[in-house]
Order: sequence, then C-alpha cells, then structure tokens
Amino acid sequence: MLNPLTILVVTVLSGAMGMAVLGSLWRAAIPGVGYWISANAVAIVALLAFALQGHASRWLTFVAANELLAISLLLVVEGCYRFLGRRTRPWVAYAGALAVLIGMIYWTFARPDFDARVAVASAYHAVLYAMLAIMMLRGRPSNRPRYCYYFLAVASVLLCAGHLSRGVMNGFGMLLQSSLLQVTPSNVAFLALGILAPPCLSIGVVMLAHDRLAERLERLANVDDLTGALSRRAFSAIGEALLKASLRTRSPVAMAIIDIDSFKAVNDGYGHAAGDQVLSHFAAFITRNLRVGDVFGRLGGEEFGVLCPATSTAEAVRLMDRLRVRLASAASADLPRGLKYTFSVGVDQHRRDESLAQLMARADGALYAAKASGRDRVMAA
Ligand code: GH3
Ligand code: MG
Ligand code: MG
Repeated sequence: MLNPLTILVVTVLSGAMGMAVLGSLWRAAIPGVGYWISANAVAIVALLAFALQGHASRWLTFVAANELLAISLLLVVEGCYRFLGRRTRPWVAYAGALAVLIGMIYWTFARPDFDARVAVASAYHAVLYAMLAIMMLRGRPSNRPRYCYYFLAVASVLLCAGHLSRGVMNGFGMLLQSSLLQVTPSNVAFLALGILAPPCLSIGVVMLAHDRLAERLERLANVDDLTGALSRRAFSAIGEALLKASLRTRSPVAMAIIDIDSFKAVNDGYGHAAGDQVLSHFAAFITRNLRVGDVFGRLGGEEFGVLCPATSTAEAVRLMDRLRVRLASAASADLPRGLKYTFSVGVDQHRRDESLAQLMARADGALYAAKASGRDRVMAA
C-alpha cells in the first residue's frame, strides 16, 4: 500500500512523464521549456537519492537529495522568469538554495536534526511556490486567456500551503518522526501531497507553452508581417465589433482609408526593398500617432484603414491632416537618401444600420476624389 518508498517511486515516474511531454515542445523554442525539462530531470535524481536513505551515504541521501529538489523548483521558477520575458534572475531563490545547502550540511553532520532539515526545506519550497503564484497572477499578459496562469497560481498556492504547514509542524516538533521514510500517517499524507507537485507543475507549464503557440498562430493570422498592422481579415472582424459597440453607446465612428501616393514610382525609382521600407516606416509612423482604441489595418498593397471610435468625420479629417503635415516635416533617417513620400486619405462616418463594407466603400470614394484632385490631401465623402 501507500508507503513513503512507493510514493517516491510514483513521483519519479510522474516526473519522467512530465519530461516526455515537455520534450515534445523542445523544438518550438519557447523560452523556459529547457529549464522546465531540466527541473524534472533534477527532481528525478533527487527523489531517487531520497529513496536510497539507509543504503547510501548521508551526503547523497540527505544533503544532495534535498539540495537537488530545491534546485529543481528553482529551475521551474527560472523557466517561468524566462517564459514571461523577465530580464533579471530570481536571486531570492538562488540565495534560498544556498541556505538549504548550508542548513542540510549543518543539521546532518554538525547537529543532526531531522525536524530542522524538514523545516528549512519546507520554508524554501513554500517561498518559491508563493513566488510562482504571484508571478502567474501578475505576469499574465493582459491579452491572453487566464486559464493556464490561474491553474498554476492555484496549484502553487496549495503546494505552498502544504509545505508551510509541514514546515511549521516539524519546526515546532509537533510530529513524532525521525526520518523521511518512516511510515506515519502525517508523513504519508505530506508525501502523498508531494506526488501532485510534479504533474501539476508540468501540466501547468505545458499549458503555458501551448498558449504561447496559440498566440504565435493568432499573430500569424491577424497581423501583417511587413508592417505589423492588422491583416485585412482581422481589421474587418475588429471593425465590425467596434461598429456594433458604438451603436449601443450611440457614439460616432469615423473611418479613414489611407493610400500612399505614387507608390509605384517609389518601387520603380528606388527598388522594391525601398518600397517595403516605406510601408513599414508609414505603419510605424501611424501607429505611434494614433490614440488608444483606434484600429489600424493594412487593407492591401499600400492601402491602409483606420477606424476611430468616438470620432466625427470633421474630427477625423483634422486628425488625418495633422498626420499628413507631421509626416511631411518628419526626418526619415531610416529611408534611403532623398526618398520622401506623401499620402491621400478618404474619410467618412458610420451611419446607423450600414455594414463596415458600405462605410469603407464611401470612404474609398472620398479617397478617389482626393487622388483625382491632386493627391497629398484629406477629403471627406
Ligand atoms: P496612386 O498615387 O494613385 O495611389 O498611385 P500608386 O502608384 O501609389 O498606386 P498603384 O496602385 O498604381 O501602385 C501600387 C503599387 O504598390 C503597385 C504594387 O506593385 C505596389 N505594391 C503592392 N504591395 C507592395 C508591397 O508589399 N511592397 C512593395 N514594395 N510594393 C507593393
Ligand atoms: Mg497609392
Ligand atoms: Mg493603392
């Protein structure tokens, strides 16, 4: 039945399964995955070392086993840091791992004390699980689903509570226990809780990695590669939703269609690569100058669309004209020498019960008029 040794073996096996699943994500080059795989490998070695207690040296089964288990959790935290794009390292966790090492040596050889060893190791694990939980709650990118971040946060809180109670009970001598492999109800209960740690962490980080893969696919589908603007498809979808929302709030929405002037001449005169540079320069310029809430997409070629919520036609015309003048006076250090460009804009406002396509058709008509009357100007429908 459940005894400490079988629990350790089961935990080793679940660590191996975690490694196998994480291995499938190796080639996706997601930051953190390497750390998470290593964490499982180190945990397996640590648990095997624990299982040898009574049959091998105390350096291996007490000191190395505890230190490796501490490093394993450190690697999980380090992986999460890398995954979330943090620039720093979790120094608190490194300092803690060093403290565990010193504590284990002291309470194994200088003043052998089982309770003290458990208290130190439990305190370390409790702190790192708390760090993990906070990181998952605070570090979640606001545009990603909560599920996997909350899963890891809840698992970490539970594991933190488990370690905390064990540390307190051992630290205050409330458990009559003198070795890890002793069969007492409390020891079996705590170790059984420990079985859950590797699968919970592995499942949690695998879900994080899958969410990162989903994010990459969504980006590929929704964002234009060259300019970083929304693709036409995403622009239409977000635009339709914006129009619906504005009908509910009864606030106006303005649409601008922007087309770069004589772009064919840029391509012909400076080459296609310079044309591409102009497109990304233009998109970056517009993105920098729009307001939060404005929607910007590439409709095709050198034609772009902007939807401005809570904006009338007159306001949109003024906004676009300001951008036109600002671009003309801006230094363009990142464009080939002598290359200047202008753009024309057609603007109109959304009317009740019309589709985005109808609104775009009218703005496009205004753009056509702007081109016909000489380019480098903004016209309302
Ligand atoms: P107008 O002022 O009337 O808008 O003239 P225009 O030359 O800008 O318009 P036209 O439609 O004649 O030419 C658009 C050119 O844009 C033709 C096409 O080869 C080029 N183009 C479309 N997509 C890209 C792209 O991704 N990169 C580059 N470099 N050129 C592109
Ligand atoms: Mg053009
Ligand atoms: Mg065009």
